[in-house]
Amino acid sequence: MYYCVTKEMIRAKTTFHGLPVPAAIALICPHCHDYLTYFCHDYSRHTPTNSITFCGSCPACEGKTSFWLVNCRDYERSKIFMYPPPARVRAAMQDLAYVPHQISENYLEALATYHHNYYKATTTMVRASLEDVFKTVLGEGEITELADLITQLADKTDLTGKMKNVSTALADNKQLMHYFDFAQSPTRQTAATLLTLLEFVLTYTYVVPAKIHSLQQEISSLEQE
Ligand SMILES: [Zn+2]
Repeated sequence: MYYCVTKEMIRAKTTFHGLPVPAAIALICPHCHDYLTYFCHDYSRHTPTNSITFCGSCPACEGKTSFWLVNCRDYERSKIFMYPPPARVRAAMQDLAYVPHQISENYLEALATYHHNYYKATTTMVRASLEDVFKTVLGEGEITELADLITQLADKTDLTGKMKNVSTALADNKQLMHYFDFAQSPTRQTAATLLTLLEFVLTYTYVVPAKIHSLQQEISSLEQE
C-alpha cells in the first residue's frame, strides 16, 4: 500500500539537481502516530523514470519512511508517494473552495486539532463552524437544539430528505449536545463523527447548491446554442 502526499502537506522545499523537492512534510507518523513534520534527506535521482526518491525521518520517534517523487521535472504536475503511509490520516473534504472562507478556515482548524489529538478543541471548532453556517443561512447561530437547526437548514437549502434523516439520527442521540457543552469529554470517535457531521453540513449547504447552480448554467447555455 502506498500513499499520495498532497502539496498542502509540504512545509518547506529545497532543490536537488536544480529541481524543487520537499524538505519538510507535515503528516501523522506511521510509527509513533503523532502529527508532526518529517525532515527529508538522502535524495536520489533516477533519470529514466523522471523520478526522485528520498527518505523522511520522524523528529519524535526517529522512524523512517520512503518517498517517491514522480514526474519530477514538472513540479506542478508531479506526484509524491510514501511508504509506509501516514497513520490514521483524515483528508480534508473536497470542494472546500465553495465554502465561505471564514467557515472553511474554522473547518481546517478543526481538522488540524483532530490530527493533534486535541478532541475538545476539535469539538469547539466544529461548533464554531456549525454556528457560522447557521448564522449565515438561518440568521441565528447559537446551538441550543442541533437537530432543530439541521431541520431548518434542510428546509432552507431545499435538500430536505437526506438532511432530515441525519437530524432524526441526531435527535435520537441527545448526548451529542453534551460534547458541545463540555459536559462530556469527546473520544477520538466522537470528534471524528462531529467532523463528518460538519463536512456533511458544509457539503449540503455550500458545495451541492453551487454545483447544482453551475450545472443549471451549463444546461441553459446548451439550450441557447
Ligand atoms: Zn514518529
